[in-house]
Amino acid sequence: MQFVDLAAQQARLKNRLDAAIARVLAHGQYIQGPEVRALEEGLAALCGAKHARSCANGTDALQLALMALGVRPGDAVFCPAFTFAATAEVVPFLGATPVFVDVDPYTFNMDVESLGRAVAHARTLGLQPAAVIPVDLFGLPADYDAIEAAADGLPVIADTAQGYGAHYKGRRAGGIGRIATTSFYPAKPLGCYGDGGAVFTSDDTLAALLDSYRIHGKGAHQYDCVRIGMNSRLDTLQAAILLEKLAVFEDEIAARQRVADRYDAGLAGVNGVATPHVPEGLRSSWAQYTLAFAPEIDRNGIQAALKAGGVPSVVYYPKPMHRQPAYETFPTDPAGLPVCEDLCARVLSLPMHPYLAPDDQDRIIAAVRDALGG
Ligand SMILES: *Cc1c(COP(=O)(O)O)cnc(C)c1O
Repeated sequence: MQFVDLAAQQARLKNRLDAAIARVLAHGQYIQGPEVRALEEGLAALCGAKHARSCANGTDALQLALMALGVRPGDAVFCPAFTFAATAEVVPFLGATPVFVDVDPYTFNMDVESLGRAVAHARTLGLQPAAVIPVDLFGLPADYDAIEAAADGLPVIADTAQGYGAHYKGRRAGGIGRIATTSFYPAKPLGCYGDGGAVFTSDDTLAALLDSYRIHGKGAHQYDCVRIGMNSRLDTLQAAILLEKLAVFEDEIAARQRVADRYDAGLAGVNGVATPHVPEGLRSSWAQYTLAFAPEIDRNGIQAALKAGGVPSVVYYPKPMHRQPAYETFPTDPAGLPVCEDLCARVLSLPMHPYLAPDDQDRIIAAVRDALGG
């Protein structure tokens, strides 16, 4: 049994992928070929953003977003501490200061009260609040209405590396925030066969800046350099692969929802474990299906029992950002981040992908129930 089964998806798409790759080899436009533009149009259409700009990976996507917003030394950028490192990593890379915010114990996403305290604290430290980066953790959109209200005009960069395409009260992840970013790392819900990423915005000025920054700060002409930029493009081959995967993406999100529903039904009411909480009006794209055990449960013991039964599981994430050696000196919400710390000790993610067979899932559910003692 695989944690994420990319081979099952490849078997479904094999002929179409082979044909798409062959077309790129035939036309030979390996950089910025026609598939790149076609993919960007498809990505923007799905999430309702006006512009999509592909780039080399999801980390660059975040960096490009900050560069387009002009984030610089002395600025504070607010990030949840319960996330993958890339969310915060790009901030000090540009000389700005990440300020860590706590998360909600049920959705695992940014807590707006903590955000308010962190913004006030950053001001007392002499930092200039510049942007908020909510994360759609495990595929569930952050509470954007509340965050946009609490952010009080600060631009919101939605890190939807795990949530692209998820639903939030009539909007879709990618189309939410001043800028949104995603990743096509192979194991993400929409993944390519290498590294890739994209940035979304409905602001024409920001889209033009993203265009320039991702290609060496180019001006009207490719060899005009009007700003210091990056080399961050998505390969044509990866775009061609992604176009085929995008064609089945809605179907795969629906399949992930069925997998989540079966887990919910099989684990609801079992003592000592909470299944994922999805607020009214939201639909996750289920990058992960993550359980939270009660504090008295021995998570490592459960994980070992699952492994002995042939069931893979992963702890996302074992350590909050503000406890990582490279990040522990950055400011946090002055009230501390107790929820992030607590969750890191209690969560466990189960196998999740669109091709998980019901009988495999029933084995996983039975193994979790057994490990918890029924
Ligand atoms: C994967 C991920 C990223 C980074 O994406 P890469 O393509 O691996 O650079 C950023 N943020 C979150 C929340 C992620 O899960």
